[in-house]
Amino acid sequence: MTNPYEALGISKTASADEIKSAYRRLAKKYHPDANPNNKEAEEKFKEINAAYEILSDAQKKANYDRFGSADGPHFGGGAGGAGGFGGFDFSGFGGFGDIFENIFDQGIDGLFGGRRSRARANRGSDIIIDMDLTFEESCNGTTKNIIFNRNERCPDCHGTGAKDDNSLQTCSYCHGAGQVKQTQRLGGFTVIENVVTCPVCHGTGKVITDKCKSCGGKGSFKKQVTSKINIPAGIDDGQTLTINGEGNMAEGAAGISGDLQIRVHVAKHPILIREDFDLYMELPITFTQAILGTKVRIPVIGGFMDFEVPPNTQNGDVRRIRGKGVKKLRSVGTGDLIVKIFVEMPKMVDKRTAQLLEALDTDIRADSYKKVASYRSKVYN
Ligand SMILES: [Zn+2]
Ligand SMILES: [Zn+2]
Repeated sequence: MTNPYEALGISKTASADEIKSAYRRLAKKYHPDANPNNKEAEEKFKEINAAYEILSDAQKKANYDRFGSADGPHFGGGAGGAGGFGGFDFSGFGGFGDIFENIFDQGIDGLFGGRRSRARANRGSDIIIDMDLTFEESCNGTTKNIIFNRNERCPDCHGTGAKDDNSLQTCSYCHGAGQVKQTQRLGGFTVIENVVTCPVCHGTGKVITDKCKSCGGKGSFKKQVTSKINIPAGIDDGQTLTINGEGNMAEGAAGISGDLQIRVHVAKHPILIREDFDLYMELPITFTQAILGTKVRIPVIGGFMDFEVPPNTQNGDVRRIRGKGVKKLRSVGTGDLIVKIFVEMPKMVDKRTAQLLEALDTDIRADSYKKVASYRSKVYN
């Protein structure tokens, strides 16, 4: 088969997000709905799906990277082989159903008419939680307790929704297949035969005659969960922390949980502005401080530090303080603090001060003002 990295047009070092977004983009572009009767696009669509099936699965990806095959070192079509369309199985979509729902309005059933397909693998939905952090918490990391509701599998019926084994019977409409054929006529000549999810058993192949008392036949129920979340140091505003498998449990006996996604919102610092892992600030000083030099207090993460302004500092001077920025997220090292000086002139002075300044001005040697001197030499001479 085609190299999955080449199929998705990405490098071997691509992150999970890059893989996902490359897949999303290509799947949209080559989707059969957007390319009717285009064999080439269909082939391409199969190829990128096969590639994504490998690269979105940590184990398969590791196998591929090491052995050049998603199956690992032992070749020979094991279950769920990712080679070619024959081995392509829609049950594999469970892990990334969210993407597909974005692309296809009606889901994936009946995508290719008449093709053998199985009931879609069940994955619970993701839970998204918004979390507010202070600036310091985002820089230093913290732990937070969160309380949320999620769907959990009913322990009494193990998700079947049935009272016991005898109350779970094979669906008579689809004879347990979970799917039925549906014929559709388009404009008189074209007949499309689709395989669709059985409307009676909703794809499970079973019907419940006697419901589980604990869950009322749903197989799951909402439960309030308290969870301690470790927020890593260096996380930034707008980033999402994904905790795999802590989302809603899928309905039914077979299925997996979705993810818990924590969207982080970081409060602004009154002075420090974050850019990646560096912090920036503007330090206003008076013009006399700029001339004479001074020591001022500046904010750093979790406190303050003394900052020395040397004599004869110019407006716009920039000083970089190494290691006083933000700790790098899940990495080593720390960013810097960059201080830009703003020399503020007094908006008004009284008469006496003005006279003092006048006297002072005559005392300052003309060559102390390099730019002024240069300007004068060009304009007055
Ligand atoms: Zn139950
Ligand atoms: Zn059925």
